[in-house]
Amino acid sequence: MTFSIHGLAVARGISIGRAVLVASTRLDVAHYFIEPSQVAAEISRVREGRDAVVAEIHRLLASIAQMNPKDTPHELAALLDVHLMLLQDEELSNGVRHWIKDRLYNAEWALTTQLEVIARQFDDMEDEYLRERKADLEQITEKILRAMRGVSSPLMQPLGRNGRKLTQQDLLLDDTVDVPLILIAHDLSPSDMLQFKQSVFAGFVTDVGGKTSHTAIVARSLDIPAVVGARLASHLIRQDDWVVIDGDAGVVVVDPSPIILAEYGFKQRQGELQRGRLMRLLHTPSVTLDGQKIELLANIEMPEDADSALKAGAVGVGLFRSEFLFMGRHGKLPNEDEQFQAYKRAVEGMQGLPVTIRTVDVGADKPLDDTLRDDAHLNPALGLRAIRWSLADPAMFLTQLRAILRAAAFGQVNLLIPMLVHASEIRQTMALVDHARVQLDNRGVAYGPLKIGAMIEIPAAALTLKVFLRYFDFLSIGTNDLIQYTLAIDRADESVAHLYDPMHPAVLRLVAQTIEQAQAQNKPVSVCGEMAGDTTMTRLLLGLGLRSFSMHPAQILSVKQEVLRADTEKLTLWADELLQEDEPSKRIAKKA
Ligand code: PEP
Ligand code: MG
Repeated sequence: MTFSIHGLAVARGISIGRAVLVASTRLDVAHYFIEPSQVAAEISRVREGRDAVVAEIHRLLASIAQMNPKDTPHELAALLDVHLMLLQDEELSNGVRHWIKDRLYNAEWALTTQLEVIARQFDDMEDEYLRERKADLEQITEKILRAMRGVSSPLMQPLGRNGRKLTQQDLLLDDTVDVPLILIAHDLSPSDMLQFKQSVFAGFVTDVGGKTSHTAIVARSLDIPAVVGARLASHLIRQDDWVVIDGDAGVVVVDPSPIILAEYGFKQRQGELQRGRLMRLLHTPSVTLDGQKIELLANIEMPEDADSALKAGAVGVGLFRSEFLFMGRHGKLPNEDEQFQAYKRAVEGMQGLPVTIRTVDVGADKPLDDTLRDDAHLNPALGLRAIRWSLADPAMFLTQLRAILRAAAFGQVNLLIPMLVHASEIRQTMALVDHARVQLDNRGVAYGPLKIGAMIEIPAAALTLKVFLRYFDFLSIGTNDLIQYTLAIDRADESVAHLYDPMHPAVLRLVAQTIEQAQAQNKPVSVCGEMAGDTTMTRLLLGLGLRSFSMHPAQILSVKQEVLRADTEKLTLWADELLQEDEPSKRIAKKA
């Protein structure tokens, strides 16, 4: 039966494929693809795990048989019999074999996927006794997984085979993976998402997350349709269901009828044509109708993203979120050389264009490690995040500063500091940058010049801009956090996502005055939050005087198209009027 689920649109386009549910059970296991040559070994790992559990149950039954019947409730033996029956159920073993052989899932993934499939059937049963057998099924699956831990996996690797990035071409050539796969999960951390950069998925849906949560930001950087905050999606969608993701509308259609499928197939082709048309703008200079030159920069998460930045026509990197180098490493942070090599790769990758490296911004919805989520603090977004984290660990911060300084010897590098708010933090940061230079001098290691900028992403910073302009060479407005902290809306919480409003007059006034004051002192200012890549905001930002935008590479050409159609003289008058409105969003749709 066709039904649709509504969430928040985060990455544009239409995607049609089969659902892959990840970790939707309480059993959290590794998910990766295996090589066809490993199929037999993976199947036998599950078999060995199952046989071990069967043997254990037989041992228990034998010991029960020797006990005094008065001491052993007869339900226990009956329960163990049920477990034995479930373990020997062909649907379980055949299903697991199918996921391993036909989909190349690793053994644990295959087992939990089949658990999901069978559990759904139990859910649909009328008979209460049978419905309750679902808990038994979960128990035996857990036991098999535990037994399998003793049987090592032939290869543990991230999604993508042999560490090689799978392409659409692979999907077409490989008849074992012949349908696009859509990932459905309750939640994904930003580092999970980053791992999926190497994967085959053609779209993502998560139950939780806001439009500018870091999970959504990484999904957008993958440039495949995605919907977050879809609430019950991972409960309502079943393994292998056909799903359509409408990333423009934030809608997920499950089990689409042929007519709906044809409609979305048409939309998908239209989208591809539109992308093709946009590519024609690649070499067109980004200039408004009245001759204003507009700088379009890229936001990147990994050095390798420099390639897509160049391919999209970016004139530099406006935000390299360096924290992605620090995530998913089980607490072991990258050392100076490792970081230096990564920054150098980004700098060289940009072939002489400037690269703005932001110092590490972990905390809140960007945990260092999935297993180390910050649940200990009541309000992680207001806690030890970004520069606060760096200043709390000067040795770690100095390591990063030295690595960035060294990379600056290989090209034009700007250093960007996140979440500053106090003058004392600015002074400490500057002192540590000086100290990092002295350390490199003492070691006789070469480094290059740096321009140093501050992110304006806390209202208090925007309201005390004078001190920032005194110390810094440039500013970058982080609208994602500026909105979060101005409106007191958790950017990662889908339940308040409707109140997360980039067009709230308070937000617009803070953005407007930051741009105005920076320009009055001839200091470069850009916006690097998601607002910069949102084409519905381009005209307004131009009207507020913005001339530098930093966004995901995939958004650059759409924003350029808006720039080419804009007349900043007219837009300035329109934006001035808008700033006086109580509800600017009501007028924003009207063109200037
Ligand atoms: C922002 O806050 O707007 C920003 C660009 O930084 P991040 O999204 O990484 O917090
Ligand atoms: Mg931020």
